[in-house]
Amino acid sequence: MSSLAKNYNRRKIAFKKGKGSFLYSTNGKKYLDFVQGIAVNSLGHSNPYLIKALNKQTKKVWHVSNAFIIPEGEKLAKRLTQKTFADYILFQNSGTEATEAAIKVARRYFYSIGKPNKNRILCVKNSFHGRTIAAIFASGSKKMTEGFGPKVGGFDHFKFGDHQSLKKAITNKTAAIMVEPIMGEGGIKVIPNWCLKELRKICNKKKILLILDEVQCGIGRTGNFFAFENSKVKPDIVPIAKGIGGGFPIGAVLMTKKVASSMIPGSHGSTFGGNPLAMSVGNAVLDQIFKKGFLNNLKKISKYFFKELDKIKKDYPNIIKEIRGKGLLIGIQLHFNQTKFIKSLEKNYLLTIRAADYVIRVLPPLNVKKNEIDLALKIIKKVCREYK
Ligand SMILES: *Cc1c(COP(=O)(O)O)cnc(C)c1O
Repeated sequence: MSSLAKNYNRRKIAFKKGKGSFLYSTNGKKYLDFVQGIAVNSLGHSNPYLIKALNKQTKKVWHVSNAFIIPEGEKLAKRLTQKTFADYILFQNSGTEATEAAIKVARRYFYSIGKPNKNRILCVKNSFHGRTIAAIFASGSKKMTEGFGPKVGGFDHFKFGDHQSLKKAITNKTAAIMVEPIMGEGGIKVIPNWCLKELRKICNKKKILLILDEVQCGIGRTGNFFAFENSKVKPDIVPIAKGIGGGFPIGAVLMTKKVASSMIPGSHGSTFGGNPLAMSVGNAVLDQIFKKGFLNNLKKISKYFFKELDKIKKDYPNIIKEIRGKGLLIGIQLHFNQTKFIKSLEKNYLLTIRAADYVIRVLPPLNVKKNEIDLALKIIKKVCREYK
């Protein structure tokens, strides 16, 4: 009997090792892993380059307090600012810490310019920004907040894709609008570029900060470093996590100089955030993702994967409703509950994971090979063919 709390509905399967796109179970089976810790292992399992970077750091220094300068973190922050819109970076340990810190930065900014009442955060109803007490109320999901009252105030909500509902929810107390450019848990729902642009315009007009939660869709997952990049929109604050650590827990908030100015000494802190082990791995992940041709190759593989998935959809229109997403953040939406289908894929040694709206999330590592995509396609076809 397990002594772990029962807050997860775990599949009855455990792994003894992983290599690249594959996981090897304790009972001797080999699985194609297109979950990758939910878009976390961006460079696959046991990546030799990441192992080397981590091993090297373990022999130098594991942890020092943020009371001191941490050169590995200075380096990672500098690189993130050089490659993105951001001027300053704040390191955390997880996605939910990053989204909460993003909210803190937004509120603190208005406080620092003498507008402390401009403090409400506007989010998509039933979105996902993590599981801490404030983040669950940010998500506005009944299921996630049930039993965890009293309600944490300061959050308003609008319906995804409903511009009227968005405009109605904005007040002069709105400090920030926080959205995921592609909703991950929410079912791989993509915000079109023109909507992101419109959102930026509204924010400019009403002096509202734009927080784009790239915890799942960021760090190369869509073929660009950030999912919002194609829209040419410039956000004010961007929380990241999952992919940046390649499997090592890292969270971070990227921000402009304007909003960062309010984060004075003592305003925020984290014991583990930005520790040398995490920072060394983060730097190694960037070495790979920023390698010439890496993201272009991902885009090519993605295009092929989408093309082939669309063919399967055409062959099985009664099973597959839509293929959606971007890059290697892919959702296969079924016409019915997806649980049994996911189980069948697993029985055929392909691991995938659910999202809202009957969606099966397919999340290969960013360095996935074409023959691994072909294997996944073969399994998906087989399950469609045999599905009853
Ligand atoms: C996973 C996720 C989070 C929460 O990250 P944790 O590391 O689980 O705390 C927040 N926002 C989005 C968009 C996510 O996908």
